[in-house]
Amino acid sequence: MAGYVLGVLAALAVAMAYLTATLVRWTAESRSRTRSATVLFLLAMMAEMLAGGLYYTRNPDAGGLVVGLWVSGGAMAATALPLFALLAGEARRRAQEGRGAPARPIQRERSFLVAVVGLVLVNELLMGLVFTAAAGLAGTGPSLPAGPAWGGLLVAAVNSPWFLLTMAAEMAASTLLLRSRLPRAVATVLLLQGAIMALSPPALAVPGWAAVTVPASSLLMIVLIIYLLEHLYRHPQLPPGFARYLVELLGAYAVMMAGLFLWLGTGDGSLFAISVVLEMVIFFPAIVRPERLADGRGPAWLDRPNWTFSLLASIFVAELFMGAALDLALEPSVYPAGFPALGLSGPVGVVVLHAISNGFWFVATVTASTWFLAMMGAEMGVLAALKLRESRHRENRIRLGAMIASYAAFLVFYPSIYFAAIAPGAPDPRAVPVLGWSMGLGSFPVAPTVFGAIALTYVITGVLAALFGRRVVCSVFCSAPLMYQGTTIDAMKAFNRSSPAARHYLSSRLGRLYSVTNGLTMGALVVVTTASYLDATGRLHLTILGADPSVFFFALSFSVLWYLMFVAIPYVGDYSCVRMGYCYTGTIVQAFQKVGVFKLKVRDRDVCRACTTLDCAQGCPIGLVDMPGHFRTTGEFRSSKCCGVGECIEACPYDNLYISDIRHWVRRRRGRPDLPAGSGPRARPDLQRAAARRGAPLAFVPSSDAIPLPMVPATTDGPASLPRAGSPPS
Ligand code: SF4
Ligand code: SF4
Repeated sequence: MAGYVLGVLAALAVAMAYLTATLVRWTAESRSRTRSATVLFLLAMMAEMLAGGLYYTRNPDAGGLVVGLWVSGGAMAATALPLFALLAGEARRRAQEGRGAPARPIQRERSFLVAVVGLVLVNELLMGLVFTAAAGLAGTGPSLPAGPAWGGLLVAAVNSPWFLLTMAAEMAASTLLLRSRLPRAVATVLLLQGAIMALSPPALAVPGWAAVTVPASSLLMIVLIIYLLEHLYRHPQLPPGFARYLVELLGAYAVMMAGLFLWLGTGDGSLFAISVVLEMVIFFPAIVRPERLADGRGPAWLDRPNWTFSLLASIFVAELFMGAALDLALEPSVYPAGFPALGLSGPVGVVVLHAISNGFWFVATVTASTWFLAMMGAEMGVLAALKLRESRHRENRIRLGAMIASYAAFLVFYPSIYFAAIAPGAPDPRAVPVLGWSMGLGSFPVAPTVFGAIALTYVITGVLAALFGRRVVCSVFCSAPLMYQGTTIDAMKAFNRSSPAARHYLSSRLGRLYSVTNGLTMGALVVVTTASYLDATGRLHLTILGADPSVFFFALSFSVLWYLMFVAIPYVGDYSCVRMGYCYTGTIVQAFQKVGVFKLKVRDRDVCRACTTLDCAQGCPIGLVDMPGHFRTTGEFRSSKCCGVGECIEACPYDNLYISDIRHWVRRRRGRPDLPAGSGPRARPDLQRAAARRGAPLAFVPSSDAIPLPMVPATTDGPASLPRAGSPPS
């Protein structure tokens, strides 16, 4: 009997999902009064039937059945009257004006759409309530809470399979029914949205469902975010409706992931239910007018810092809570205790301090946790791999590959898989320089026992930086380059020039603001490491938010501040850790680079003198806009800010640029040329055409105020004297 009831309910749910999707399609096609009235009538009928059913399930006896039937029947009859009146009036008009008379258009389209969306939402909620209650009465599922507490009832109904799975089916069916009117990218996003909804962990209370769906839905969300980011890279301008939809959807996902974390941690599903309703409120108004998602081209998103910031912030919040949810679901023995929970009672000052401490350590713990890093690595790693695919220079491809491999090895495999799972008995990572100390100071309290590891870490990275430049850390070993170097995030270097704050840090000069930022960072490092040492030797007892001072500073720098600056790229520019100098590890390796042999060199400085595109400067994510001036005067460029990402080399339309490091220094010492014969500048017609399309060149920044250089006149064709493809090397 129970199985039979379940089968009937499931069949009814499928039928209602298909009917709702069909009515959504009719709404999308409705332009006449009769058609829109029919849609409203059918949706209202569904709501009225479900309302009668709800009354019966709350009063499951003969009296309740009678009242339920009367409620449904009476309301349906009342709804039918205006429809019949409208149809009769329309028939009369046609009889007078002839059968070919055009149908009368909808009078108040906005009200019609609001009514449709409202009825769809009411139907979904009623269906969740009625079907959950019916399944509970038949003993095939949990019962709805008794009593008049509608908040609890609605949460239980929304988090039920009858709501979530039906909703997912409706999303997918509506999208498929309207697919011919939707661009492929929009349809893909909507279908992925439906699939994520279908994998909602609170949907089923059966063993194993949450354990499977938490990682599965997270994986789908990662796929969705990668798809969206790559779509942005390929499409600088989006239809305005689609751009708005994306920000709203990702905002809803941020709430949903917070709700999922709360549900896993405390069993409270109310925030998750709110996010699901929010998603419906976003989805249905968009799908009933699909042309709004498809038509027009808005301004370039790189010209919209607020929009881009909203997108990045929503993605970050969603991923933060997704990482925390994964930590809870996949490592339940580690994380519930690992999340800080200082009490929030007592004097106001104590409450505020505890709240700040809880928030800070929550963010720091999650962003340094296995699953957050794995998830971030998967997303940004795919974008970096796509960047690698379009890089032309072998050296850049090797660097990008090493960067992806370093992230996988040092951020995910060694700390979380090797030491935790494969070799739990392996030597303490503190004893393994570079692996356990990749970022040096702050990884652990500064005790005399770890001096050796600290020194060895800086000797190794220092020697490598002196020989090959700070790229060893800042564009390979550190996790930051993986985040910055993927296709879409790299494109955000455009904000380095458009953001008023970021413009202060342009060029290789270590300006006043840079010096202040960097000075504060290094001063703070000295203070916290000294305090940490005094603590470790028993001469001081100082903690900051409950942690050793240097460990706190490390967490602040790399697990909190760094991510805030990443999200704020539209306002502070790309690669801000390097450009603004707020990272102490970057500052230390840049000092080694300064005494080393790393520099950028050009093959032929006359090519730079004639160049009007200055694409090398435009390609640099650090904003070293003065490099062409140096190329024109000395043929080379040294900057402690340069971290060797090689985007300038990729961007030069004459292939005139290369990185010179210890390998070239040795060749020179042996009296040989830097580069093998045949590697002179050569034209890159694709890049030259792109520069011509772009029109005006960048403002020229001379290499030194003492050597003013004439501005090369702007042309769109490029100078005739530049080498063409296949020209012999100079
Ligand atoms: S400056 Fe610091 S955070 Fe940025 S890439 Fe270099 S080491 Fe990493
Ligand atoms: S884009 Fe190439 S040719 Fe032009 S200034 Fe830069 S390095 Fe020289």
